[in-house]
Amino acid sequence: MSIKEYLNIQPKVVKMLLNSYNKQRLAHAYLFEGAKGTKKKALAIELAKLLYCEKQGEVCNECINCIRIEHQNHPNVLVVEADNNTIKKEQVLYLQQEYHKTTLEPGPKVYIIDKIEKMSINAANSILKFIEEPVADTYTILTTDNLHQILPTIISRCQVINFQPIPKASIVNYLIENGVDTYIAGICSHLTNDFDKALEIANNDKIINIIDLVIMISQAILNKQEDIIVLLENSNVDLTKDKKVSEYFLDVLLIYLRDIQNAKNNNFEIVFVNDLNFIQQYVVNISKEKLIYNINEVLKAKINLEYNANLVLLIDHLLLNLM
Ligand SMILES: [Zn+2]
Repeated sequence: MSIKEYLNIQPKVVKMLLNSYNKQRLAHAYLFEGAKGTKKKALAIELAKLLYCEKQGEVCNECINCIRIEHQNHPNVLVVEADNNTIKKEQVLYLQQEYHKTTLEPGPKVYIIDKIEKMSINAANSILKFIEEPVADTYTILTTDNLHQILPTIISRCQVINFQPIPKASIVNYLIENGVDTYIAGICSHLTNDFDKALEIANNDKIINIIDLVIMISQAILNKQEDIIVLLENSNVDLTKDKKVSEYFLDVLLIYLRDIQNAKNNNFEIVFVNDLNFIQQYVVNISKEKLIYNINEVLKAKINLEYNANLVLLIDHLLLNLM
């Protein structure tokens, strides 16, 4: 992707960066802040390409500079990211050494430090020096998934850029472009905000079986069928072995219940579009109160799942309560 292709995903950020670049008013230190999967690191790399692309004011992705930056082997663009969930002291020391060296090639130096919340306080303090006394023609771009974990001294010295959650429609389009069925893409886009994660889920064979099971269970609820546990036993999904499978099951079930709730409120913008007719027909069989109760039960099960509850008990208990 090139920087302009991110216009659909992070329109404000891209416009602001292009504008600052064109007016030669880029800040020396940025802090890209926003939820996981909002493309903060990717846009930091795009900004580095913008500074170096042979087609000035663009990111062509074809010139030698764009290619070297993409592959993280441009000598003036250094990218540091957490290794085993931490940014180590040695990584920061390396950056500090590089910071004072003169560049081997002409052009600005760009430091990208991804997920600075993974740094120790000592390490974070040492990068403060970079941004406090910027050397000419140096840009530092920090990213974080969690602004609350960042030292106020760092925040105050950076221009903080907020990254908005990715629009669901962009994730759906991305999945469809990658060969995912439209209906499945719609459901998967509600399971995560991250493009790659969404594709990984959509390509997991189990997800189709989980969706089928959720539909059967939800229809059983609307039909007031009593044999919900039998449905579970006859399904292709074993919810009692793999915590991840149970987690997806609960998330997909939550989406379906919210669809029923929307239909009940005459809002027909639903995710399970293939089931709209069924839902419209049977929505009278369940009261608003019971729906809210069921949604709460699924939310409670999600919390219990995090605390490693016994999966068999958790699922049986939930299904009994849903009926
Ligand atoms: Zn280029």
